[in-house]
Amino acid sequence: MNIPVKTMHAAEVAERASRAREAQGVWTRYSLTQRVRAIRGFWDALQRERGRLAALIHEETGKPMAEVEFMELDAAALILKHLTRNAHRVLQEQAVPLPWLMLNKRAYVRYVPRGVVALITPWNMPFLIPFCDMVPALLAGNAVILKPSEWTTRVALYLEDRARASGFFPEGLVQVVVGDGEAGAEVLKHADMVLFTGSTATGRKVAAAAGERLIPCVLELGGKHAMILAKDAPLERAAKAAVWGRFANSGQLCVGVEVCLVHEAVYADFCARLEVELAALRPGPAGEPEQDLGGLILAAQLDVVERHLEDAREKGARVVGGEVDRANAAVTPAVVFEAKPEMLVMREETFGPVLAVMAVRRVEEALVIANAGRHGLAASVWSRDLERAAEWASLLEAGLVSVNDVLIHYAACALPFGGMKDSGVGRRHGDQGLRMFCEEQSIVVHEWPSQLPDPWWFPYGRLKTRILSWLAWLT
Ligand code: NAD
Repeated sequence: MNIPVKTMHAAEVAERASRAREAQGVWTRYSLTQRVRAIRGFWDALQRERGRLAALIHEETGKPMAEVEFMELDAAALILKHLTRNAHRVLQEQAVPLPWLMLNKRAYVRYVPRGVVALITPWNMPFLIPFCDMVPALLAGNAVILKPSEWTTRVALYLEDRARASGFFPEGLVQVVVGDGEAGAEVLKHADMVLFTGSTATGRKVAAAAGERLIPCVLELGGKHAMILAKDAPLERAAKAAVWGRFANSGQLCVGVEVCLVHEAVYADFCARLEVELAALRPGPAGEPEQDLGGLILAAQLDVVERHLEDAREKGARVVGGEVDRANAAVTPAVVFEAKPEMLVMREETFGPVLAVMAVRRVEEALVIANAGRHGLAASVWSRDLERAAEWASLLEAGLVSVNDVLIHYAACALPFGGMKDSGVGRRHGDQGLRMFCEEQSIVVHEWPSQLPDPWWFPYGRLKTRILSWLAWLT
């Protein structure tokens, strides 16, 4: 079981921030090619110790080794490759067109590093999230202060240590601040930008602190993935997707499927398939490649799971699984059949191994239920009619929508990743996920004639004003 670390003092955080600022002053003078080379070199160094890193992630989280390998490490490799291959295209100066009235001038946008970027991260993906946010921040020329969850600091400290030991970065470019929310709040006093990943409740506090200092703030928050099944849904794939989409990482995924809204014509068939898939999940042997299920990373999450299951039972649901073992902070995967919109499991993020299933009369009814909540991170539509499915998908109020698929967006990193409504502000990944770590500096160069004033400068006059209006109208 993880125990929280001691929180760093304010003075220590300030000292780290000032070292980061100094290191950034050096790093910003590296060319982009040098930065790309350094980051690739760092990744190669991590790869040489992949076994050690994988074991550490497994130890810290208890997640199955298969998930450590492909969800934490292989997904990071995909993102690193995408970012390093595209960095030049995205971060190079971009020429922009001007109205022909300004044909004697030239304009372009420069991408200037922000300075010290704070990454505040949760406990569910202790390597993937910090590493994949660190890479674009560094490519853009910033220093990084990572404040990992107080429940999973070992992987973060390992990253800091390997970054220092690799010799690819100026001393202090990548630093970790450990501690709880107080340490996070201290980091915010020094950063020039924050990318926060965590709960919606904390996101609001981070946004308020960033607003106070007027620093940019990107928020990646909680979700409530509704999976909508039409009557022509491919049921075999859908049942497997629901079980993987819910119980991978023990349900502790922001994009994880939380609710299935199933057309009544296929509800019984889908539920029967779910039970078969559920029974086939293998909880062990721990640490072996065949293990499907890990435990809860954070014991406190058990309280939410228990509260949601009790509430569902009280309100008449049939619950399969969900046996709680308090002593070991464990719970068996649970499916809540005959769920109703008023149940907690349908309204609040569970972020644990509990899947709610509800029958609906029409897909349109499912869309209303899916859009009713305040979350808007991920959702999916399941139908063999891809055209209709795309239409329904367009009606979902979620940032990450899939048709006949789940949990794929993060690794498809050319796509912007983030949520609508209470699930976030801004997007990581995609081109903007790299550019957001820069100030955009707009530059205009007057080229010719070098001596003459522009016609809209003083002195004004009736004829000149008319000619200018006419030219502007023509432009
Ligand atoms: P959390 O909000 O409790 O904590 C997140 C981080 O914020 C931690 O490092 C914590 O120490 C820090 N923190 C707490 N108070 C702070 C404050 N006042 N100022 C600055 N930092 C503060 O979240 P959690 O329990 O670690 O993570 C689970 C949540 O994260 C879930 O809601 C999940 O959906 C969400 N999540 C979202 C994404 C995404 O990409 N949208 C990804 C993973 C997890």
